[in-house]
Amino acid sequence: MVEPIGNAARTERIVLSGHVQGVGFRPFVYRLAKRHGLTGSVRNQLGEVEVIATGPADSLNRFEHELIDNSPPLSRPAIDSVEVITSTEYRDFTIDQSSAEADARIFVPQDFFMCDDCRAELHDPQDRRYRYPFINCTQCGPRYTLIESLPYDRPNTSMARFPLCPDCEREYLDPANRRFHAEPVACPVCGPQLTFVDRDDGSTSSAEDALSAALQKLHDGYIIAVKGIHRRLSPDVRCAQFHSGRRPALAQAPARQTACRYVPARRRRRTRCRSPLYGADAGGSGAVAKSGTADRAGDQERQ
Ligand SMILES: [Zn+2]
Ligand SMILES: [Zn+2]
Repeated sequence: MVEPIGNAARTERIVLSGHVQGVGFRPFVYRLAKRHGLTGSVRNQLGEVEVIATGPADSLNRFEHELIDNSPPLSRPAIDSVEVITSTEYRDFTIDQSSAEADARIFVPQDFFMCDDCRAELHDPQDRRYRYPFINCTQCGPRYTLIESLPYDRPNTSMARFPLCPDCEREYLDPANRRFHAEPVACPVCGPQLTFVDRDDGSTSSAEDALSAALQKLHDGYIIAVKGIHRRLSPDVRCAQFHSGRRPALAQAPARQTACRYVPARRRRRTRCRSPLYGADAGGSGAVAKSGTADRAGDQERQ
């Protein structure tokens, strides 16, 4: 380790752990480094983030403080080590490829509920993701349920089979964009679409028609099984009757109050279901319940 002298330029290797992957942390580091006039790189390293930063000592000190104090809302970073290393000539600050070989602690990011920015786009008829159900950004959307291997990068997720369209690629590569390096980024042009399959007659429909068909079935009292871009099946909580002694199933509801109205869960279990951020289940608002099935259970809902 080299001891720095005064405010002379130096190069530091900063290793951060905690909730630092899948939460927009690398783009945040990139923008912060640019703002402080630093050069170097940032990359994921199997659960940790490694930052190499070159600049004056006081800029580096402010940079380190802001790495923690101004980190993205969903991140929980902690600085594991800061080491002054031999200076290397960097022309710019870059986001580098992840290191798949490093033997480090592994952190698997959670899924997050929709953020306010995405919700606004979802309801904006002028937006290209208007009513697009798979909308997401660095601050929301699926992570855990997409991951097929670590580190958390798009090629290691189930989104790898959806090549980005030019518009999404532009957002993904633009450091000023809120979807910069958002691994699950998608839109109606290049991302997954809703498909509805009617088990009775085998007919299929897609996009808005799929949603309408599913809603109609719910109104008719049928049970809808929902398969995401991961492996979960989510029966609608309003259409299931719950009995003890059956296999547990996952049921999702728009709010905890809705789930608690239909699911006879004990207080402790309800508490665990309350928060998508800190609850036991990473998949959003939901409830794990003893579930039976009732073909006409929807009749109860309408009464
Ligand atoms: Zn979002
Ligand atoms: Zn796209």
